[in-house]
Amino acid sequence: MARIDQEKCTGCGDCIPVCTVGAIQMSGEGKAHVDLDACVECGVCVRSRVCPVNAIYMQKLEYPRILRRVFSDPTMTHKLTGIPGRGTAEVKTNDVTLRYDWGYYGMCIELGRPGVGASLRDVEKVTRALAELGVEFVEENPLMGLFEDPSRGKLKEEVLGERVLSLIVEVKFPSELLPKVIETLKKVEKEVDTVFTVGLITRITPEGGIPAISQLEQLGVAVRPNAKVNMGLGRVLRR
Ligand code: SF4
Ligand code: SF4
Repeated sequence: MARIDQEKCTGCGDCIPVCTVGAIQMSGEGKAHVDLDACVECGVCVRSRVCPVNAIYMQKLEYPRILRRVFSDPTMTHKLTGIPGRGTAEVKTNDVTLRYDWGYYGMCIELGRPGVGASLRDVEKVTRALAELGVEFVEENPLMGLFEDPSRGKLKEEVLGERVLSLIVEVKFPSELLPKVIETLKKVEKEVDTVFTVGLITRITPEGGIPAISQLEQLGVAVRPNAKVNMGLGRVLRR
């Protein structure tokens, strides 16, 4: 847990702009302190070594608070996926894993950003809304460890009070479900107290086309195509 030793702190304020979510504040006594509700345990205040008197330190974290660190500190390796950097290989490996095959779309909804963060209660609003449509939550995503019931998009009760810097909800669904998914996200964006970006993952046709683009434009969604080509850096797992 990020803490500030009140005996050591001189109140210089150098640590305040370093915090990723604005959780360090100055008290009436002229000392810095961490708002523990807002802090996402990213560890940047300690790793940056900004404090001239080493007053900032991390305390050991217990579950469920440690989830803040797992999803916010890129130096952590996630136990579920074994992948450093917040625990997901994400969609850029699709040409190796073929996780999203023909007739399916993958979608990444990344909630939270530096400066904003996201509460797991807001994450659950998104997962519940998507579950009602019958989408499949991707097994390899570390979010799976937080579900009480993925078929309902329900997260475990004890994690709902936690906040993270950002978290990626990764789903898979038949391509014809896209209009309903977009409609649902437009509705839920008004209910969450954070920002999110949406990435749609699709394979390119043998002719080089991307049918999803016109489908999205018809739904009133501005598209920014973004392709990554795997130059022999991986092994195709199945065909
Ligand atoms: S651990 Fe991260 S969020 Fe918490 S006070 Fe330090 S910089 Fe801010
Ligand atoms: S940088 Fe260190 S001494 Fe300065 S306000 Fe922050 S904790 Fe206090």
